[in-house]
Amino acid sequence: MKISRPIRARISPAAILHNYRLAKRLAPHAKAWAVIKANAYGHGQWRAVEALRGEADGFAMLETENAVALREAGITQPILLLEGVFSARDMRAVLEHRLTTVIHCREQLELLLRSASPEQPLSICLKLNSGMNRLGFTAPTLPAAWAGLRQLPQAEVTLMTHFAEADGECGVAWQLERFAALAGDWQGPRCLANSAAILRYPAAHADWVRPGIMLYGASPFVEQSAAELGLQPAMTLSSAIIGVQEIAAGERVGYGGTFTAERPMRIGVVACGYADGYPRHAPSGTPIAVMGQRTKTVGRVSMDMLACDLTAIPQAGIGAPVTLWGRGVAGEVTADEVATAAGTISYELFCAVAPRVPVEIGAI
Ligand SMILES: *Cc1c(COP(=O)(O)O)cnc(C)c1O
Repeated sequence: MKISRPIRARISPAAILHNYRLAKRLAPHAKAWAVIKANAYGHGQWRAVEALRGEADGFAMLETENAVALREAGITQPILLLEGVFSARDMRAVLEHRLTTVIHCREQLELLLRSASPEQPLSICLKLNSGMNRLGFTAPTLPAAWAGLRQLPQAEVTLMTHFAEADGECGVAWQLERFAALAGDWQGPRCLANSAAILRYPAAHADWVRPGIMLYGASPFVEQSAAELGLQPAMTLSSAIIGVQEIAAGERVGYGGTFTAERPMRIGVVACGYADGYPRHAPSGTPIAVMGQRTKTVGRVSMDMLACDLTAIPQAGIGAPVTLWGRGVAGEVTADEVATAAGTISYELFCAVAPRVPVEIGAI
């Protein structure tokens, strides 16, 4: 049954493929794990898998159960568990389905040593903590990890780390240095770069890269837009005007009356609220597009609605199309712009799109 409330998330598999190819062109000597965790950053795990099925060198995600589901759906590429396993049952699934798992702590290594037999084929990413201080072995804990791995000589090992500030001022050089010190004379494969490092630091491309946000057409950088980077938006969140109010100067709009009109205004009410995944923290002035024209939100975002300024768009009445983010018939506003206005990042907006928002597939 087609839901008649007008909000829609339109997902473009072609854009995801375009963006994956861009990652590959930027890191031509590396293989690329397509990061599809968090339901492909809200775009739909299976939609991303279908988009990239013929081309991805591998898929990276979190839940063993989801990884097994990919195998059962006939995905033959390597599949990487980015946080490793959480139980002995997970580890058995890793071995049975030939998944690649991160090993980031002694406990995971012990699970591996208990479950794997020396002749069983096995692929792991040994995670080093090079300064992010989240997951991974450090100088004091690494020797024991190597000693444990000597019991599994057949294991194909990739050394991995994660950058804390590839998108920011400090960059990656300091972490590359620490990584090199930890890796010693390691000659095997290395896997380092997230989207920001793929886009900005060729020296960090190594053997495998891990593009996430760039696949979905958003920029990891504050000061550089996705379009400037050659990325295509993969999601458009659109809706329509469902109410119009002509208000006098001095009138306030929405919960708490946080917006006061300084002159007579025409206010449009959009069928989209925080229960759809639009950020409640987006303040008055957040960009939005109506009928091909950009304008601004006014007042607080409600659960199911938000308001915008239609004063300069007199032709926009009930049913007028609205682009919340992405590129649609109503115009273009990037998810990055909305995220910046709301004090967050596009990652969070994408992941928050609610299950009640109907999804359409198609070009953007
Ligand atoms: C999520 C994640 C990525 C992808 O990061 P982006 O910034 O989205 O490119 C890469 N590596 C690890 C370990 C991750 O958890």
